[in-house]
Amino acid sequence: MNSENQNGPWTLAELQAFAESRGGSCLSSEAGIESTSHRFRCAEAHEFEAQAFVLIRGGFWCPHCQPSIDGPGPWDWNALAKKDPTLARFEPAPNKTGTP
Ligand SMILES: [Zn+2]
Repeated sequence: MNSENQNGPWTLAELQAFAESRGGSCLSSEAGIESTSHRFRCAEAHEFEAQAFVLIRGGFWCPHCQPSIDGPGPWDWNALAKKDPTLARFEPAPNKTGTP
């Protein structure tokens, strides 16, 4: 990794690919440095700003849709999975007990 350039660890194309993997898009036009906040839009058309590492390394996504540990819950994971390809891969969780 080139530490002399002003790019963060992810290129804009990678940020866009990440956002698409969550059913959304990245609205920023420059990758910026690691601490740069980017503008994203989720599948529900909420727009929010976040640093890429918070989303990618922290596992967070749209603060309006996604659960937070302070949130009231319960959350409709099936509804979220319909719009979020990453969640859709794992939700609903497979029934390992064999009972319906
Ligand atoms: Zn949202």
